[in-house]
Amino acid sequence: MASVRKFEKVLIANRGEIAVRVIRGLRELGIKAATIYSDADRRSLAVLLSDEAYRIGPAPSRDSYLRGDAIVELAVEIGADAIHPGYGFLAERASFARRIEEAGLQLIGPPSSAIEAMGSKLESRRLMIAAGVPVVPGGESALASLEEATETASAIGYSVMLKASAGGGGKGMRLIREPGEMAAAFRATRSEAAASFGDDAVYLEKYVEQPRHVEIQILGDHHGKVVSLGERECSLQRRHQKVVEEAPSPVVSPELRARMGEAAVRAAEAVGYTNAGTVEFLLDRSGEFYFLEMNTRLQVEHPVTEMVTGVDLVRWQIAIAQGEALGSELDAVEPRGHAIELRLYAEDPFRNFAPSPGVIERLRLPEGPGVRNDCGVYEGDEISIHYDPMLGKLIVWGADRGEALRRLRRALQEIRIEGIRTTVPLYRSLVDDADFIAGNLDIAMLDRKLEAGELTPAHASEHTDLTLIAAALEHGLRQSRASAAPAPEGGRRGHWREAGRRESLRGGGAWS
Ligand code: ADP
Repeated sequence: MASVRKFEKVLIANRGEIAVRVIRGLRELGIKAATIYSDADRRSLAVLLSDEAYRIGPAPSRDSYLRGDAIVELAVEIGADAIHPGYGFLAERASFARRIEEAGLQLIGPPSSAIEAMGSKLESRRLMIAAGVPVVPGGESALASLEEATETASAIGYSVMLKASAGGGGKGMRLIREPGEMAAAFRATRSEAAASFGDDAVYLEKYVEQPRHVEIQILGDHHGKVVSLGERECSLQRRHQKVVEEAPSPVVSPELRARMGEAAVRAAEAVGYTNAGTVEFLLDRSGEFYFLEMNTRLQVEHPVTEMVTGVDLVRWQIAIAQGEALGSELDAVEPRGHAIELRLYAEDPFRNFAPSPGVIERLRLPEGPGVRNDCGVYEGDEISIHYDPMLGKLIVWGADRGEALRRLRRALQEIRIEGIRTTVPLYRSLVDDADFIAGNLDIAMLDRKLEAGELTPAHASEHTDLTLIAAALEHGLRQSRASAAPAPEGGRRGHWREAGRRESLRGGGAWS
């Protein structure tokens, strides 16, 4: 692509906080933001903030946010120049990217060929080895039989990970500690892979003991330039799902950052990558790092990189898709200060993280120095059971990690979410945890601490008390405010919401 073509309208094929994030990016560039919504999201924040909103189907994702063909058709019909897929849903489906390319539109993302190459774990492993990117020691081809699996495992040395080539989202993966576990694991992983991913190819790699998850953010343009924007530490995970991320990593030196950055750029170049992408690595205790996978889209945790680099990733995603070249200001970006992100989930940390749908009766987000909220909901909004329970993200920045932690603690004292249960109490305990404070992290640490009862239960009653006292105080304040000023706050908000709704439905409704 040689010429620069400015977009006038972009369709967002997503929902929740990421749809809101993309709307903000588009608006700052003077581009119209159109969004889709399901019946469950009729009054979502993304719908309210968008310039145009179109109903795409009923609540279940497969009938709405996963209707790739209908979304591309809609984009053509409304005269959109491009589609932003956000993350999740269709963001890493090569077939969706191909449909967009065939329709003559731009995907604000990589070419379908790069998505395809990185979508297969075995294929991407082979490509990375050829490109000189370190991968976890292990096999390079699919295992044909149990005998071959057993032989390969003893050659690698236990413990090993058996992985489905087409797996994802933490599924299709088994840890095998000793030879006796192989037969059952081999059969189960293969049949699970065939059933869930339609591909029963499995392979083995070494199990890395207590590693960190460290990933590199890259940007690639259509003029042959790829840059690294440094790392994010994402080791705090619950069942292989990230919950807290930070930048920079507490253990990555400038020298290691440079080496990991170079490897990530090589990985991207090996598949002709353009736009924003993330190369995930496992960092072991000796400081060796290994390619895990490449996420061919914007990440949930992109704001921590934005906070420490000052680079607006969504703005660059759009600029790259319009054909603009990456500037020299992106050549040697170094992190400034420290950022930490918490994912706010509508889940009950006291009841094994059970989803907590319902109406958000009260929402007060923290403000003040160094605090950013990327939130997809508003007070009065209803959280449905249909989608990922993430409400949004709380991000803090500080001049160093200590200041970021102090701000995080302060922000967690300010935040109030009532009507539904959230993971906030877990985080209030986490910010006082000695290992978290010291940056002693590994990918199994959170699960270990939760299992040992080290985090939430000990603090549960204390925070319940605090919440009750705060609620009582606030109720008193509200009452005295109400008697002083008769115009009810809710009335104004209600009016704004309705106005937003009228605005957002321009052009909508007809589409289903
Ligand atoms: P998925 O595509 O399902 O996300 P990944 O290959 O990215 O699978 O792995 C998900 C998580 O599983 C990683 O973040 C890490 O916590 C763990 N993991 C994966 N491979 C290994 C390995 N070889 N050794 C130790 N942990 C691993």
